[in-house]
Amino acid sequence: MKKTIPGVCMLVGLLLTLPALANEGSIAFVGATIIDGTDAEPLSDGVMVITDGRIRSVGPRDDVTLPPGAEVVDASGKFIMPGLINAHGHVGATVGLQGNADYSTSNLLRQLRLYARYGVTTINSLGGDEVEGFALRNAQFSPILDRARIFVAGSVVVGDSRGDIRAAVNRNADMGADFIKVRIDDNLGAGEKMSQRLFETLVEQAHARRLPVAVHLYYLEDAKFMLETNADLIAHSVRDVPVDQQFVDEVLARDVCYIPTLTREVSTYVYESVPDFFSDPYFLKEVEPAIIEQLSAPERMSTVANSQAAQTYKAQLPTAMANVGALYEAGVRIAMGTDTGPPARFQGYFEHMEMQMMVEAGMSPIDAIRASTGVAADCMGQGDIGTLEPGNWGDFSILTEDPTRDIANTHSIESVWIAGNPVPGVQ
Ligand SMILES: [Zn+2]
Repeated sequence: MKKTIPGVCMLVGLLLTLPALANEGSIAFVGATIIDGTDAEPLSDGVMVITDGRIRSVGPRDDVTLPPGAEVVDASGKFIMPGLINAHGHVGATVGLQGNADYSTSNLLRQLRLYARYGVTTINSLGGDEVEGFALRNAQFSPILDRARIFVAGSVVVGDSRGDIRAAVNRNADMGADFIKVRIDDNLGAGEKMSQRLFETLVEQAHARRLPVAVHLYYLEDAKFMLETNADLIAHSVRDVPVDQQFVDEVLARDVCYIPTLTREVSTYVYESVPDFFSDPYFLKEVEPAIIEQLSAPERMSTVANSQAAQTYKAQLPTAMANVGALYEAGVRIAMGTDTGPPARFQGYFEHMEMQMMVEAGMSPIDAIRASTGVAADCMGQGDIGTLEPGNWGDFSILTEDPTRDIANTHSIESVWIAGNPVPGVQ
């Protein structure tokens, strides 16, 4: 765990995250079907015991001994699955539909609590992170946590010279970043791509600082190049053309993870008309009516309908989805990510939509869950979250319907637990 932020920031972060009631002793969840986020099949009539925020034991009812004095929660007939992990999101300055409104501890905590109420218990914030985000990251390895965890990339690295690039990587590394984030596309021709030489310098410097590099990309050609440079994480779908065998072989050989962010594509064009989800109670329960009103204004809708970029992303979404299906079939590690956080990319709700789209792209529901839990944690290099195994943090959800039968059943989350503490306000 990284603890490079001075103690005073850690203390501030810790005080701000203190819940009213911390979990003490042990709590046992008894009788549920446990989907543990690993390759294992769901375990029916299981028991999971949490002690001091971490999983102490998990297994069939007959194999698990309850510690004396444990509080017992009857979860018969229900389903337990790990908290969702968004391997590419942003916890930043957004308020309503304003993107650059308020980067503050209170606004970050508001977002981390919103994610948590939707069962998203960890976000890999890939860019735009400042000292307050780092402090929240540092404060979260604690048995009193009850909001989503955040990992941070700091500022997206840009620069015109190798010296600039190295300095920018070093700034993030010195702050204690978990990832280095870089863009290698040209915004559909609207911008200039980072040169290959500067990109190579970036990867070299990040690796010298022992940091993985997450890459924003669009074109297959750039995805192949980032693999050649040894960059570590494909943070968006390849969207221009179908992936080819050479790329599939290379991703597999390097064991690089692929984060589709399909809902990011949806967010670019879907407000050209009134989206179906504007009438979904699961969406409406957390969104302010004023935001729906603004997004439904006819002038705004026609701006989206007339945006060439939006219409290109829309037209290329089937290619992106087919690529997810092909890479999944080939055995590539797919990690759930949404790019939520910027305006109108709704934190929490979109992660559920993303899983549905991953299933539409060809993944089985249980593999979409694995991609959103154990695999995502693995792709982030985080060993003690993502799966319900002894020693890991007790981050999970209890559902009333089976999400392996129908992925839409992730909407049936009844309660969310982080470090064994109930997240307030889930229903
Ligand atoms: Zn992003």
